[in-house]
Amino acid sequence: MALTEERCAAPGCENLSTRRGEHVIPNALVRALTKAVWASGTYIAASTSGGAEAETDQPLYIKLPCCAHHNSVLSKHFEERGQKAAKQFLGITSTHQPNGTTAYAAVPLASAPPLTSEDACEFGRWIVKTLLLMHHPQAVWEMSGFERLTEPVDSQRAHLPEAVYADLFAGNVPRGCHAWIAATADQSLTEPVVAAPRVPLVTVGGNAGVPSTLGLAARHAVDGFTLVLQVVWQPDALVIHPDEETGDAVRVWPRPRAGLKLADLRVLSLEDGAKFWATFAQVRDLTRFPVGRTAVVAKGLWWVSCGDQANGHRFYALPRVDSRTRVDAVRVFAEMAGLLDPDTNSRQ
Ligand SMILES: [Zn+2]
Repeated sequence: MALTEERCAAPGCENLSTRRGEHVIPNALVRALTKAVWASGTYIAASTSGGAEAETDQPLYIKLPCCAHHNSVLSKHFEERGQKAAKQFLGITSTHQPNGTTAYAAVPLASAPPLTSEDACEFGRWIVKTLLLMHHPQAVWEMSGFERLTEPVDSQRAHLPEAVYADLFAGNVPRGCHAWIAATADQSLTEPVVAAPRVPLVTVGGNAGVPSTLGLAARHAVDGFTLVLQVVWQPDALVIHPDEETGDAVRVWPRPRAGLKLADLRVLSLEDGAKFWATFAQVRDLTRFPVGRTAVVAKGLWWVSCGDQANGHRFYALPRVDSRTRVDAVRVFAEMAGLLDPDTNSRQ
């Protein structure tokens, strides 16, 4: 179905989509990666019913039907500054040519300037937006018009509440989003390495936590590696990434730190990379927490209750914490969630 026959993906919007719709992974960024970073060649688009593979010279696109108004909201609040930060982080420069085209080049990562704290924030917002919109029920995955067979089937699509999409299409990062990045060895030429999930995402206040992970080849060939982006949506819970405290992964939302630089990321082995990909497991029904209580989910750290302000209870227990970093991370999240006031925060 042509995008123009569909309603805009923004909840409640009655407009029909424009012809282009919204590219969830922006066209300009895919073009920059294709021209400057990825090896030229043929992409496998799909297997036909006869078993033959359809081929294309274009990489994967993920599109959403979107009206002109909501497209401009996403541009203004996420894309314009977010894509600029993403390109800087990936060490890609673009130059406008006299003939009206744009030339792209990949600079050595060591010489790519680090992101300021403002740019790191834009990068983090952009990652959250991209990885959540990928799961929108109207998202179409295609390569040059071929619908790709590896498109996540319905059961693999995360089911996020409409309010999450309403926030994104209003230009806001939804409450309860967390994002990390890691660099992993290039897995495209090897047998897939499988790892078990380490962190269960529980159900808090009726909201089942949702993970979303996406790999982007950041440099190809012999010493190539993949930049893996990971987002978790889990409101009313503190989510701690086990790879964050070891330095294998870096948090980019909320509160990314200034000085973010791709060359500074340790490139993880295939095994450690697989562990990062598989970090979070969705546990829909096993553990439920009522609203007002807050769970921390992290490897080696049991539940931390951060108080029930509505009922006047205020407690802050951190069993099995053996790392200063983890304590700090928990405190940052607790503060952001409004679970700790400055008085409580200063008491150690
Ligand atoms: Zn719309």
